[in-house]
Amino acid sequence: CGIFGVIGVTDAANFVALGLHALQHRGQEAGGIVCHHPEHGFNSARRFGYVRDNFTKQSLMETLPGALSIGHVRYSTAGGKTPVIRDVQPFFGEFSMGGAAIAHNGNITNADALRRELIERGSIFQSNSDSECIIHLMARSLQRTIPERMEDALRRVEGAFSIVAMTRTKLIGVRDPLGVRPLVLGQVGDGWVLSSETCALDIIGAKYVREIAPGEMVVITSKGVESHYPFRPQASRFCIFEHVYFSRPDSIIGNRSVYETRRQIGIELAREAPVDADLVCPVPDSGTPAAIGFSHESGIPYAMGIIRNQYMGRTFIEPTEQIRNMGVRLKLNVNRALIEGKRVILVDDSVVRGTTSRKIKEMILDAGAAEVHFRIASPPTAWPCFYGVDTPNREKLLAATMSEEEMREHLAVDSLKFISLDGLYRAVGEAKGRDTKCPQYCDACFSGEYPVTPSDMIEKGFEL
Ligand code: 5GP
Ligand code: SF4
Ligand code: MG
Repeated sequence: CGIFGVIGVTDAANFVALGLHALQHRGQEAGGIVCHHPEHGFNSARRFGYVRDNFTKQSLMETLPGALSIGHVRYSTAGGKTPVIRDVQPFFGEFSMGGAAIAHNGNITNADALRRELIERGSIFQSNSDSECIIHLMARSLQRTIPERMEDALRRVEGAFSIVAMTRTKLIGVRDPLGVRPLVLGQVGDGWVLSSETCALDIIGAKYVREIAPGEMVVITSKGVESHYPFRPQASRFCIFEHVYFSRPDSIIGNRSVYETRRQIGIELAREAPVDADLVCPVPDSGTPAAIGFSHESGIPYAMGIIRNQYMGRTFIEPTEQIRNMGVRLKLNVNRALIEGKRVILVDDSVVRGTTSRKIKEMILDAGAAEVHFRIASPPTAWPCFYGVDTPNREKLLAATMSEEEMREHLAVDSLKFISLDGLYRAVGEAKGRDTKCPQYCDACFSGEYPVTPSDMIEKGFEL
């Protein structure tokens, strides 16, 4: 998901709509905006679909006045379920101090247990979302201020969370103690901005200030930014997959350009898994920077052998298998004139179920390619993510049940190679690779080492 908030500007909701538009790649199912105005109080709008189709309509934006606003773009992690509007964030709750709204990116791994406990004690849930627990925990806290209540609530929550929240007068940002999901601080005029990624600061002309630190809570008012550290300090474990796929290539993470990191992954991949061929082609758009790096390092010419229809979204986010299967052809087409008779290296960011790779291979062979070699910019995805990225159950992950050679046979390609975990760490700037005792990132979907025990899932029978 993508989260965004702004304080201290006129028509804050307009800034939020723009910010969410720049974060649309993080979630395309739905979007929501909450704002506060001293006369009109809290207002909100939640809609299915793209931000640009909903939140630029003047009639809607006029109902969202005020200088303080937050928003959310939703990427369903409940995979397959029919989406319902009451699950669309931000969530708002009215309690003794005038209420608060919150938008959450990540996943709470003990949400089932918390929900059961809260319902037993009388909480009335409005949605199916794990994030709603936080509002109820805040409402029940005995602390005197909303930020203190939020600290109280979050100390009971396990898992990954970046949060943007608001009260009538404050904008609040938090990252979980491991800092799994991103959150950055920016400044626009006299106002302040919180955003999942820096690309959404650019769109409103805000200046990038810094990242919110893992375990940090910032409380922002007209007087400025105040930092709190509510959690026991821990070594951070940022999601390495943000670098590979999730973030936009024009964003900056940890002072590194995401584009440059991805190009570096391609360079590592070309060193680890060279192959004699005529062309390096990206699977657009997610494989493009890595393909550029691969071509650069190998000296094999880069070519746009596959063309993407810009009017389709990301395939992965389509909820059903059937649409996903169709989706590849609706979205990608082979550039026959380039491919015919050529030995082609295809570079993609990841293989999850293998549906995309299979379809693409068929299309490339239909177009007359002589050989097809897959090079993948992440290690085999063998484990599900429980921290906010929608990977399917383990059985559906190709790499969970097959070796690399079996996957190659399954995809029926001439060769298939994934970047090593160490190679990926080098590409993100860890010169010595992965520290096996204390890994610098979360890489659970590749290693199976979960930095936070997924307790709800274990209760449901998931085996580590
Ligand atoms: P599959 O192998 O299941 O057909 O899909 C892999 C493709 O889905 C990749 O090309 C990747 O760009 C895209 N993708 C989109 N969202 C995600 C995600 O959350 N995780 C992974 N691993 N891949 C994703
Ligand atoms: Fe990121 Fe993978 Fe960890 Fe999920 S499991 S947070 S996708 S690195
Ligand atoms: Mg892709």
